[in-house]
Amino acid sequence: MNFQLSEEHEMIRKMVRDFATKEVAPTAEERDENETFDMAIFDKMAELGLTGIPWPEEYGGIGSDYLAYCIAVEELSRVDASVGVVLSAHTSLAGWPVYTFGTEEQKKKYLRPMAEGKKIGAYGLTEPAAGSDAGSMKTTAKEDGDHYVLNGSKIFITNGGIADTYVVFAVTDPESKHKGTTAFIVEKDFEGFSVGKKEKKLGIRSSPTTEIIFDNCRVPKENMLGELGQGFKIAMQTLDGGRNGIAAQAVGIAQGAMDAAVGYAKEREQFGKPIAANQGVSFKLADMATQIEASRLLTYQAAWLETNKLSYSKESAMAKLMAGDTAMKVTVEAVQVFGGYGYTKDYPVERYMRDAKITQIYEGTQEIQRLVISRMVTK
Ligand SMILES: Cc1cc2nc3c(=O)[nH]c(=O)nc-3n(C[C@H](O)[C@H](O)[C@H](O)COP(=O)(O)OP(=O)(O)OC[C@H]3O[C@@H](n4cnc5c(N)ncnc54)[C@H](O)[C@@H]3O)c2cc1C
Repeated sequence: MNFQLSEEHEMIRKMVRDFATKEVAPTAEERDENETFDMAIFDKMAELGLTGIPWPEEYGGIGSDYLAYCIAVEELSRVDASVGVVLSAHTSLAGWPVYTFGTEEQKKKYLRPMAEGKKIGAYGLTEPAAGSDAGSMKTTAKEDGDHYVLNGSKIFITNGGIADTYVVFAVTDPESKHKGTTAFIVEKDFEGFSVGKKEKKLGIRSSPTTEIIFDNCRVPKENMLGELGQGFKIAMQTLDGGRNGIAAQAVGIAQGAMDAAVGYAKEREQFGKPIAANQGVSFKLADMATQIEASRLLTYQAAWLETNKLSYSKESAMAKLMAGDTAMKVTVEAVQVFGGYGYTKDYPVERYMRDAKITQIYEGTQEIQRLVISRMVTK
């Protein structure tokens, strides 16, 4: 067993940390305030090869692995969790299903430009009445000659509006329940596709989250992803890997808040000494550091399992559960360490606290992670 990261992984961490510190961090607060995504940041990520980390070079990627991808999401989220999730949804939720289930033509047509960062990807599963119970979706896809015609809508879609390529799920056979769902690749310019309401959010405010609408949206048959009726399986397997990305995002948020809290605790003086000199504060920092490290190890383990083609559903659910709860706890404590200043926008810890909450909700709430884990440990 070897807990040391390889030279390649260390190099990717250093490169992303430099980029995040110099080019993402300085404007993070402004983007949060204005709820705007900056395409220049995505373009720079593309230049650095970050938009296709785990995909082979023949599909426009840099041929690295899922651990490197998690390290990149972690480092971006350490300064701005919105940028972290834009990359995570693009890679795990859109790139992964096309790489895993796509035909050679689909990989060339859709994965390559996403990996090269020329196109942005998104994933449309959630509907107004189908969240945790995704299998109860109502969006339909009906065969019509050499097309399927999609009707319905999806909500809360990360990268909605900025994405070019949407992996979406629709009911092709209402009688067959989960086996009656099929996945499709939808281009933003397809007839009958449109972007609806943009959400105003508590956190990750500069990552766009929108509704997407299918109004007799015509999708060529060759854009079916996987086989007819395989959609639910594709959706669930995609989320298994996606959870590694969200766990990494949570670790990054927690680490960013921790770093800020440590710096402040060493500088801020009360009662004639730095507040860190009080065990009441330093023990808090010790607990925060320990929880972050445990979350990071679970996350890297899940990414390593995925890279090595071993089973990872349980481990990625555990990583997301642990890291999401850690991000929430650590960011709340970071605000506490900052006292009144932590509650203001003069310091970034209030943003970290707002951003942390989503990691307990999306790609399966913490309750759904427990459902996944409990099913596996009791089978
Ligand atoms: C910012 C943001 C970005 C998102 N991005 C995407 C995206 O890109 N693509 C996409 O498809 N979706 C996306 N989502 C949707 C997200 O995955 C869902 O919101 C999430 O899965 C929960 O579904 P829900 O909101 O309908 O909550 P519900 O399913 O209605 O859950 C409400 C509460 O009930 C609990 N609950 C439900 N069922 C059970 C059960 N069986 N046992 C115990 N507790 C239960 C839940 O844990 C939760 O606490 C995003 C959401 C947000 C807010």
